[in-house]
Amino acid sequence: MSRSAPRRGLAGKVPLPRGVWGDGSPREKKHGGSGGDSPPETVLRTAKLVKEYRADGVTVEAIRGVDIKLAAGEFVAIMGPSGSGKSTLLHVLGGLEPATSGEIWLLGERVDGLSTAGWAILRRRHVGFVFQFFNLLSNMTVADNVELPALLAGATPRQARRRREELLAELGIADKAGTAPARLSGGEQQRVALARALANEPSLLLADEPTGNLDSSNTRDVLRLLRRAHADGQAILMVTHDARVASMADRVINLFDGMVADDAKVVPIPRRVNGVADIVELRG
Ligand code: ADP
Repeated sequence: MSRSAPRRGLAGKVPLPRGVWGDGSPREKKHGGSGGDSPPETVLRTAKLVKEYRADGVTVEAIRGVDIKLAAGEFVAIMGPSGSGKSTLLHVLGGLEPATSGEIWLLGERVDGLSTAGWAILRRRHVGFVFQFFNLLSNMTVADNVELPALLAGATPRQARRRREELLAELGIADKAGTAPARLSGGEQQRVALARALANEPSLLLADEPTGNLDSSNTRDVLRLLRRAHADGQAILMVTHDARVASMADRVINLFDGMVADDAKVVPIPRRVNGVADIVELRG
């Protein structure tokens, strides 16, 4: 796939901002930084990332020293048993919860020390989220929900509308544009959340089981859209329990007890005549 393909700007017109901040914050020169003309090779990197929760004098180590790296345009699935830290990792990487220690580098800049407001700006510009708690604004229509992130990222109203029409059509919910999210089914809300997350063509999409509530036909629509985002050069980090969904990824990271137990490339096995399909082989 187009692992290091330059990203189209929003709707092909709005260029990607050159740096996360452009303010001299720490840069990772060896990865190309983000001030150069070409996109950085590494979109996301963590070093010794730790997240502990403390409650009633008890400490739970949800993430215990995670080192991961995502190249521009790379699609990585995160798997692992319940309680292994998958959702926590995504929350910390998106700045929804602070890391206890360790480093997070996004687009060549260190971001783990950002304030809540700093994270909000960063997400608006560079990171799309699809979480099970859909994060849709209930007092807006589906159309407004999807157009808003694009407008906030600097698209013109016309560009935002075009992008919204394209995304909703791809997901088979174009007819829901004027509806309030509360009047949609769980699966429809999930697809609107995905459209919203992709509206500003983020460099990184963080998705927590984006197909969790969907039937097989809607799952296909979502996967087709993710494949397209991937082909457009967006990096995707996606938690899934579904091996068929993971088989679309370039790599699968397995978490166990808050640590990376396995990080391996996906080697798809060609469909066989006897109908055995969608088998994933992992090579470390
Ligand atoms: P997964 O997504 O793999 O199911 P989680 O990231 O939800 O795992 O949880 C990892 C560990 O952290 C679990 O032991 C869970 O109970 C704990 N945990 C998650 N969120 C919190 C929280 N807000 N407070 C305390 N413990 C938490």
